[in-house]
Amino acid sequence: MSTLPADPSPAPSPTTPAPAAARTNTTAGNYFVSNYPPFGAWKSEDVEAYLGVLEQPPRPDVPLGLYTHIPFCRKRCHFCYFRVYTDKNAEDIRGYLDTLLQELTRYASKPVIGGRKPKFIYFGGGTPSYLSPDQLGFLTKGMKELLPWDEAEEITFEGEPGTLTDHKLRAIREMGVTRLSLGIEHFDDHILEINGRAHRSKEILRAYAYAREIDFPQINIDLIAGMVEETEEKWCEAVAKAVALRPDSVTIYQMEVPYNTTIYQNMKAEGRLVAPVADWETKRRWVDYAFGEFEKVGYTVTSTTTVVRDPQKVKFQYRAGLFSGADLLSIGVASFGHLSGVHYQNQHDFQPYLSAVQSGRLPIYRALQPTPAELYTREFMLQLKLGSVSASAFTHKFGTDPRTTFATPLSTLREWGYLVEEGDRIGLTRDGLLQVDRLLQEFFDPKYRKGRYA
Ligand code: SF4
Repeated sequence: MSTLPADPSPAPSPTTPAPAAARTNTTAGNYFVSNYPPFGAWKSEDVEAYLGVLEQPPRPDVPLGLYTHIPFCRKRCHFCYFRVYTDKNAEDIRGYLDTLLQELTRYASKPVIGGRKPKFIYFGGGTPSYLSPDQLGFLTKGMKELLPWDEAEEITFEGEPGTLTDHKLRAIREMGVTRLSLGIEHFDDHILEINGRAHRSKEILRAYAYAREIDFPQINIDLIAGMVEETEEKWCEAVAKAVALRPDSVTIYQMEVPYNTTIYQNMKAEGRLVAPVADWETKRRWVDYAFGEFEKVGYTVTSTTTVVRDPQKVKFQYRAGLFSGADLLSIGVASFGHLSGVHYQNQHDFQPYLSAVQSGRLPIYRALQPTPAELYTREFMLQLKLGSVSASAFTHKFGTDPRTTFATPLSTLREWGYLVEEGDRIGLTRDGLLQVDRLLQEFFDPKYRKGRYA
């Protein structure tokens, strides 16, 4: 499970009268806001602009992050909308890893890197832990030779519990991973099975215990509220089991059903408009319940999806960098990156990605050069997902006060009862935070309000 889940029910327009009372079914589509302008606005015409910034030195004092996409999984979960492959053999995988290193080689000498070393690194997927220790060793040795990791303050690695043996976890720790993120999603074997997950509860407990023994500095676990056949009772049990593990942080997504999922394909075949999962109000209530149970044992809610055991110690630099305009060099099929203020996405199919890199080109599929106003909106919206934004920090960085720039959407949120204004901070109530992706539509330029996240 990667980072990006979604109110696929049509987001309310600014004129929606009573959002607080909305009880909406889960219908198909994405709702999770992970970037701005929406991916649907990115286009092949902007690829030249992106290639142009690669030849310029980096913006001063902008940190560099590195994202590596590993698109292989044991099987495809029914709710998955990522580009993943379940049919690749060892030779295909070796060819992919070689290609990743070739892609990174092309970037390493570009002026935009400017001799910088990554401050944070993220292995996402797909399932990075699908790779064997030997494959991981080959990949990371090559990556470190091209862009050394000695300044990296955080290295995150996503793992699927059923792929994590003791031996592999040791190899992952030895390659320098500081933050292990386990895609647990649920603890109930029936729910895991009916949703197409490859792992079962026994494997979760075994992998978690090994990981604790090895002493990863941070272990995050992912859960999903509202999977197919979720019930009140099973959700409460899942939360109790998650609390008992005492992870350093927990990321809780609300189940969404994008168009390219198996669940949606089944809905279409059966002529159903409503997905067979809980409605949005129920999912928000379940996440709220989970937040409350973690708060009872000392955790802090640090974003719309996250609780953290010790916020002083546990940081998430990848997210912090992404939400504050850092450069993100992303390699791999279908990956999304952001360099010198320009968004880009790589070729989203396996063979075109490989062919582009192997023929000496960068595998860019589409890009977007946002305007300064769009970059401002992007950063404000992403930071609001953390719960609150400092108006003075924004004014200092961008020269304009968000209370002026966003006077209209902020007044809408105030009217709806979701806004908390304390001194310098513009924040959301808990209820607002739990549906922030829906509320963020208010900050979108009208021309993007129908933009589809895909
Ligand atoms: S583990 Fe499942 S949800 Fe995660 S990327 Fe693979 S198929 Fe998709």
